[in-house]
Amino acid sequence: MTSSPPRKPRCARFSPQGAKKHLGRPGVFLERAYVALGSNLGDPQATVQAALAALNDLPRSSIIAVSSLYLSAPVGLRNQPDFVNAVAALDTHLSADALLEELFAIEARFGRRREFHHAPRTLDLDLLLYGDETRGAARLTLPHPRMHERAFVLLPLVEIAPDAVIPGHGPAAALLEDVRDQSLTRLEPVLAGKTA
Ligand code: ADP
Ligand code: MG
Repeated sequence: MTSSPPRKPRCARFSPQGAKKHLGRPGVFLERAYVALGSNLGDPQATVQAALAALNDLPRSSIIAVSSLYLSAPVGLRNQPDFVNAVAALDTHLSADALLEELFAIEARFGRRREFHHAPRTLDLDLLLYGDETRGAARLTLPHPRMHERAFVLLPLVEIAPDAVIPGHGPAAALLEDVRDQSLTRLEPVLAGKTA
């Protein structure tokens, strides 16, 4: 175990994926979300660590678990540096749309340029799961449309949430077999967190 981002007090008890807790104010629910982090420019490891701290600082949200860091070969455009990847579990009172906006804001703060699909990036944050919500809008598709076929998402996700279920695809752990041939190296644990 190494250093951990600053922890904020938990505002409700941990609940299984998809469970909603009403916290007294109408319309305000606690939701479990999973966010994938990826970086392959500059100092990717430091970027991912700093992005985890930024996620933990999001309003009305707390990180409850963080995977190890993993090194993955780039997908799509191959002639670029390897990526550092991780997955974080968040408990949040933000809506899925509001959370995505916050993720975009963090990406922008880290100097991300959206040049083209699969381009190298300082920081990529993807909303993998938001409870068990499904939607197909281009701006926000849930679950993330490619998460089920990416080892660099599935392995860190299963590390922190062995029972995670991807709506429409089933248990994440069962999908690992199909991505065995994708190159992935576990770097180090980032944060002591409870597994979901
Ligand atoms: P990728 O992460 O697949 O490399 P980008 O980060 O460039 O691609 O995202 C492209 C678009 O994907 C963004 O404009 C965003 O609105 C959209 N998008 C759709 N669903 C999601 C999601 N679940 N998480 C993050 N972005 C998403
Ligand atoms: Mg993205």
